[in-house]
Amino acid sequence: MSDLEQVIAALRAAPSVAVVAHMNPEGDAIGSTLAAALSLRDAGKSTGAFNVDPVPPGLQHLPGISELRRELPRDPAFACFLVVDTSDLDRTGGLIGAHRRDAVVLNVDHHSGNTRFGDANWVEPTASSAGEMVFRLLREGGFPLSKAVAANLYAAILTDTGGFQYGNTTAESLWAAAALVEAGAMPEEIGQGLRAHRTLGEWRLLGEVLAGLQVGGGGRLAWIEVSSAARQRAGVGLEVTEDFIEYPRNLAGVKIAVAFKEVSADEVRVSLRSHGAVDVAGLAKVFGGGGHRNAAGCTVRGGIEEAKARLLEAAEALLG
Ligand code: 5GP
Ligand code: MN
Repeated sequence: MSDLEQVIAALRAAPSVAVVAHMNPEGDAIGSTLAAALSLRDAGKSTGAFNVDPVPPGLQHLPGISELRRELPRDPAFACFLVVDTSDLDRTGGLIGAHRRDAVVLNVDHHSGNTRFGDANWVEPTASSAGEMVFRLLREGGFPLSKAVAANLYAAILTDTGGFQYGNTTAESLWAAAALVEAGAMPEEIGQGLRAHRTLGEWRLLGEVLAGLQVGGGGRLAWIEVSSAARQRAGVGLEVTEDFIEYPRNLAGVKIAVAFKEVSADEVRVSLRSHGAVDVAGLAKVFGGGGHRNAAGCTVRGGIEEAKARLLEAAEALLG
């Protein structure tokens, strides 16, 4: 049996399934979670959708979002955990922990550094997104593809391919997207939901952050920082700054873009993006994080100035 067939067999056998993804979730994590939970419910199972962190505003329109819960109920226990888009069980933020006991854990992911923590593991680093994998899983398993399921999967693929523009966009991703539109996903409505939710405070903060954009490494390295003070002045949460890194990334000549986000006086969230062969997943790993070649992240202990000094030195070294 292939890895995919093992996952399908385990899902068919399970009367109840809890679907879970990584913390600090984005469109791929949430879209894949909801799609799997809704489809398996349509197939007659008792299902739940869970994420330890709050859902960012751009994902509030996804069908089924109101069912997402931040904690697992003690009772009834789920027979199976389907973990999507998650390289390591710790990245679920301790959501499963003691609940694992007798449950079967299924791991469906596209991160190359996946630790194969499941009882069955289907890991495809060449897949654009967990959404593309869940689409294959549902189709090959014969699980129902309602309009709501299709919309969630479309949003997942759209997010991780950067709107079908990143290097992970393949013919397979586009075929999947076409099949999802055929199943009822509405590209305009979904795209609009993901984009048109910004508040004035967010754009004011973006203005301030962009005014501080810095460039180094002969123009190949660009970075921004989001201080807690600036964020508090704007009255916004950390999660709304997720896409700010696209600005340094899109600066002509830049190979590595970095966003430093101050969480507290001694914790900094770092997002890394790159173009082409430059591998920022390796860079993130040195600092205890991970991700994909062109999109990765880590959390660094210490003040933001120290984090900047260490990260930027390592990024310059990587550029050679
Ligand atoms: P982001 O910059 O959007 O937070 O993360 C980009 C990518 O890197 C995502 O695929 C995310 O899963 C991964 N990533 C971000 N932070 C971490 C981390 O601390 N550990 C690991 N293993 N992956 C991370
Ligand atoms: Mn993903």
